[in-house]
Amino acid sequence: MELYPLKFKPVYKEKIWGGEKIKSYFNKNISGSSIGESWEISAHPHGISTVLDGPLAEKKLTDIFSNFKSEILGKLAEKNNYQKFPLLLKILDASKKLSVQVHPDNSFALQNEGEPGKTEMWYILDAEPEAQLVYGLKPETSRKKMKQAIQEGTLEKYLNRVPVKPGDCFFIPPGTIHALEEGILLVEIQQSSDTTYRVYDWNRKGQNGKPRELHIEKALQVTSYSAELNTKSNTEFIINTADYTGEFLAACPYFATEKIQIHNNYHIHPAGERFYTLMVLEGTGTLIYKNKKYTITKGDSLLLPAFLDRIQITGELTFLKSFIPDDKIQIINTLQKEGFTEQQIKELPGIRSWESF
Ligand code: ZN
Repeated sequence: MELYPLKFKPVYKEKIWGGEKIKSYFNKNISGSSIGESWEISAHPHGISTVLDGPLAEKKLTDIFSNFKSEILGKLAEKNNYQKFPLLLKILDASKKLSVQVHPDNSFALQNEGEPGKTEMWYILDAEPEAQLVYGLKPETSRKKMKQAIQEGTLEKYLNRVPVKPGDCFFIPPGTIHALEEGILLVEIQQSSDTTYRVYDWNRKGQNGKPRELHIEKALQVTSYSAELNTKSNTEFIINTADYTGEFLAACPYFATEKIQIHNNYHIHPAGERFYTLMVLEGTGTLIYKNKKYTITKGDSLLLPAFLDRIQITGELTFLKSFIPDDKIQIINTLQKEGFTEQQIKELPGIRSWESF
């Protein structure tokens, strides 16, 4: 059995805060309503995606990963002892506010929850005009103040709320207090983890009439107070060629993500080095691999295993391409070759995560 570009069937999740936008934006044929999350590429036990077509159709990503671990991971496998497929890609539709929450880092999560921590990024696809989200705490917030505000139900005064528009990107290191608010459709790229500590639920009641469970002690422990968030850099890390426009959105030890807009032609050569994931956001194109043509279109999510040969993509389309970088140097070298200065590169969302890695 030989691997090929794998397209996945997502796992849809109904949520009390979900909506209808995943269906309408991507033209997806989904039964059920109030879909809050689509797990597009996932090997997490809470929602495992299956291959859509080809010789591996209907196979679970978890099974494919155990059978083809080194073919999928490539050289990455030698460096990191991944027992599971390490990334989780989702689409989220918040028609109502989500609870205010925080994720632990690797060491806390492995010790307390038996799974990796969660570093994540959000790429905003669609947002209503007044849409905003919670991104970190206000600078004066201490652990003591936060604890008291949680007990009194007044945490809102310490939340840093920012306006959002389509195309915005938010890098969310572990320890960052965050929440999606209503009217936002986005892509989430994250470590494969489902550990979330809820700190505040806007004083709402859950479906049973009682407030939802909070995880205050753990949240207080893992929250970074007065952390500096590097999300909005002044530099746009854009690479322009005749064939495509690429933009580096974020890079950290767990993933790097580029937005690629193809005007004509684009090549990916995994060369045994690493796998890539693609999420098509706009347009339609043709992916050509070993003389076989695959149509890829808005709403498709693909995994390109590391042991694939050269892949060509043609058409007019935009996608997010993610991969796990070797190290910080790889990202710096790539951007320096494109003319970005060391000073500018320091602003790339996520790049400072290597300091605490
Ligand atoms: Zn989160």
